[in-house]
Amino acid sequence: MPTATASVQASSAQLRTDLRNVAIVAHVDHGKTTLVDAMLRQSGAFAARAELVDRVMDSGELEREKGITILAKNTAVRRQTPDGVVTINVVDTPGHADFGGEVERALSMVDGVVLLVDASEGPLPQTRFVLRKTLAAGLPVMLVVNKVDRPDARIAEVVEEAHDLLLDLATEVGADESVLDLPVVYASARAGKASLSQPDDGGMPDSENLDPLFDTILRHVPPPTGDPKAPLRALVTNLDASSFLGRIALCRIHAGQMRKGQTVAWCREDGSTQRVRITELLITEALERIPAEEAHAGDLVAIAGIPDITIGDTLADAENPEPLPRITVDEPAISMT
Ligand code: GDP
Repeated sequence: MPTATASVQASSAQLRTDLRNVAIVAHVDHGKTTLVDAMLRQSGAFAARAELVDRVMDSGELEREKGITILAKNTAVRRQTPDGVVTINVVDTPGHADFGGEVERALSMVDGVVLLVDASEGPLPQTRFVLRKTLAAGLPVMLVVNKVDRPDARIAEVVEEAHDLLLDLATEVGADESVLDLPVVYASARAGKASLSQPDDGGMPDSENLDPLFDTILRHVPPPTGDPKAPLRALVTNLDASSFLGRIALCRIHAGQMRKGQTVAWCREDGSTQRVRITELLITEALERIPAEEAHAGDLVAIAGIPDITIGDTLADAENPEPLPRITVDEPAISMT
């Protein structure tokens, strides 16, 4: 994890230029899995993952079964840039209208959204629900038109439809029309290729790889902000479980740092605060969760050791227990700090 925070003043928020948190919104079958897979392959993370599995296997099959490696709910893609390695956390969103607030929770973890649309089918009604919430939350959107290689692709029309949809929704939620300055990337996820120029219908993007997609994400999705020297504040946005670690809380760290073994204040819904210990801290590497010693403002982490922790709770500095606004399920707009 990056540690280039030493010179930051206590009061100043810092841009995590080494990090992007992005959600992919797509209708089922439009190619989300294929695209994330291709991104992983091209980031070289599969090699790292193979090593990881080897390491874990070395420590015994039993430990592996106990849940040392746990499949993450998000994917971390590492990207070499001239300024160093950037981690792109890709958060999944439910591809359907959802009444449990899962869409809001996914969106509360990210700073931008990739709208992935099939070049033949175009944006479909279920995408509308998630996209409306995206605009209500004020998150920037970029468009990926996938499957441009389909013989029945109608690329220009699909871009037009996406524009119309965004204009419609921006009007509905009162969002700024600047969302229509929409970066568009054309892709064949299956071929692992992308371009900024529009290919012919049924043709191929003019680049040999997904670089134009990576570049657009890095340019268009802002790095997370947060003061790594401020008191810790991390919001629990989702839950998971492992037979070995018990309940796992997925959090976004909004300020400060978190360390394995640290004692923190657990701010609960009833307003009470309790001191608890983070027995395990995990970050995502490609598709898996791996143990980490520390994490910083902007990071998405998974923690274990607090059996009754739940969504909306805050983990805060033990000496400065200030809860973040709880995520409310029924509100159209989400609380972001
Ligand atoms: P998801 O449901 O959004 O995760 O979609 P998948 O990634 O599982 O893809 C759905 C289907 O579309 C699969 O059969 C893929 O092989 C196919 N597919 C994905 N990307 C492309 C593409 O760029 N071109 C074509 N022709 N097919 C694709």
